[in-house]
Amino acid sequence: MLIVMRAQATEEQIRAVCEKVESLGYRAHSMPGAQRTAIGITGNRGEVESGSLEEMPGVQEVIRVSKPYKLVSRDVKPDNSVIRFPGSPVTIGGADLAIMAGPCGIESLEQSFAIAERVSRAGAQFFRGGAYKPRTSPYSFQGLGEEGLKIMAEIRDRFGMLIVTEAVDYESLELVEKYADMIQIGARNMQNFSLLKRAGRARKPVLLKRGIAATLEEFLMAAEYIMSEGNYNVVLCERGVRTFADHTRNTLDLSVVPAVQRLSHLPIVVDPSHGTGKRNKVTPLSRAAVAVGADGLIIEVHNDPDRALSDGMQSLYPDQFDALMTQVRQIAAVLGRTIPDVPESGVLTGVSRLSNS
Ligand code: PEP
Ligand code: MN
Repeated sequence: MLIVMRAQATEEQIRAVCEKVESLGYRAHSMPGAQRTAIGITGNRGEVESGSLEEMPGVQEVIRVSKPYKLVSRDVKPDNSVIRFPGSPVTIGGADLAIMAGPCGIESLEQSFAIAERVSRAGAQFFRGGAYKPRTSPYSFQGLGEEGLKIMAEIRDRFGMLIVTEAVDYESLELVEKYADMIQIGARNMQNFSLLKRAGRARKPVLLKRGIAATLEEFLMAAEYIMSEGNYNVVLCERGVRTFADHTRNTLDLSVVPAVQRLSHLPIVVDPSHGTGKRNKVTPLSRAAVAVGADGLIIEVHNDPDRALSDGMQSLYPDQFDALMTQVRQIAAVLGRTIPDVPESGVLTGVSRLSNS
């Protein structure tokens, strides 16, 4: 159920409707839009008695939502969501493309600083890197844990980049929420519903990666789990799905970008690194992702890929990342999108530890 408020509805009228919804035992999600506010109702098992709500001051109409996802839907919010970060001018989902780059895993301070220096200079606003690595083999490098998070916090201080990193369980989510600017939920956890709910109670934006075999509806329902707990700052990420094709690690499904944009107001970025698994395919698929209308890219870059502890085969050399950025800047311009220039100082975002409080 969705309550659409009139364009002229006052804050007080919106609050009164939310209170009424909660008094009926449901949860009210107020979603302000460019034209009007909509209030999504969740927590109802059957039909909500809409009569009394329809009569309240400021209410334009009460609509039944037939789709399984509600809060992620454009029915609730017709205009695109723009995700913001406290103390930073960086956004995801607006005119600027969000560029996230860094190693698969944080291996050491020296490695991370060397990569951060290069990717921030090339224009990446976000530093990516795993401190908790979900690996196919229990004998592979599992990440540095909290030590890795501390290294990333140092990167934020030194380079002014925003930090995005994966949480794999409750315990790591708590720490990621403390140190990072954005919490990544990995493909393998896309349907870990208790973790999604915990991310929904976090106070930082969530980067939700598509499951290895997830349909569009399952992907959107995973985002719905996060939003249903009150965290509306969700960014979707296409990272390839498992198919019969074996010329790439996964098959990057770029058609999901316009499909998501038709159904949902949430931003969607593309990960051509995990999507292809091959270094030589990352740049062409990055160009395609920007051309198809993605809101950003997340790319693995390593200063010494041959010796990387994870995903070296798909990691770009810093010089290749520079070339990629030059190309995608030009493609973005065709679509009226921009990648902010890097100021002389090399510090792009101006974020400080403030955003960590
Ligand atoms: C990653 O970003 O390093 C990662 C493990 O991604 P995914 O969950 O998409 O496999
Ligand atoms: Mn990786």
